[in-house]
Amino acid sequence: MLLAAPYSHAFIALGSNLENPIHHILQAFDELAKLPTSRLLEYSSLYRSAPVGRLDQPDFINAVALIETALSPQALLNALLAIEQQHGRIRESLNAPRTLDLDILMIDDLQCKENNLTLPHPRMHQRAFVLQPLMEISPNCHIPGQGTIAQSLAACSEQRLEQVKENDIK
Ligand code: ADP
Ligand code: MG
Repeated sequence: MLLAAPYSHAFIALGSNLENPIHHILQAFDELAKLPTSRLLEYSSLYRSAPVGRLDQPDFINAVALIETALSPQALLNALLAIEQQHGRIRESLNAPRTLDLDILMIDDLQCKENNLTLPHPRMHQRAFVLQPLMEISPNCHIPGQGTIAQSLAACSEQRLEQVKENDIK
């Protein structure tokens, strides 16, 4: 008899600020939908945000997606890093411009701190460009160990963020 695989829910943040960022993000939604043993459940609209940390670079396009997956956290991270590679991601330095960044925000209510994977993502609660799209697709969710999204979002209300207009998306 086949046992049902244990599925988890993973929120993923997408970001891009090089070489037609909107295209990279839309393509990444498709690629998330095709991850093995996974299903794309929700995806947010696209947002434009000012760069953080290093200001001499183009604005970012950001979004958040929710998938259901039977992949382990480590296997999911590896699959996301592989997608970044397919988009020509070059890791130059911290906060450098990038064709595609895929970060795991949360997997269910898991909290972990390993060498290459920290959950929830350690900076997610400080970033309006993560919290706003997250709020759109899951307004009532909590960040494990942090509190509600609304509380975190209120604390970074000074960060500039705008929704990308339909006309700008082709
Ligand atoms: P950042 O996203 O912070 O700008 P990178 O995309 O270059 O930085 O990621 C660097 C490393 O961060 C990845 O290789 C990965 O091992 C590690 N990492 C730790 N926690 C996470 C997480 N929750 N999601 C994605 N990567 C993570
Ligand atoms: Mg990353």
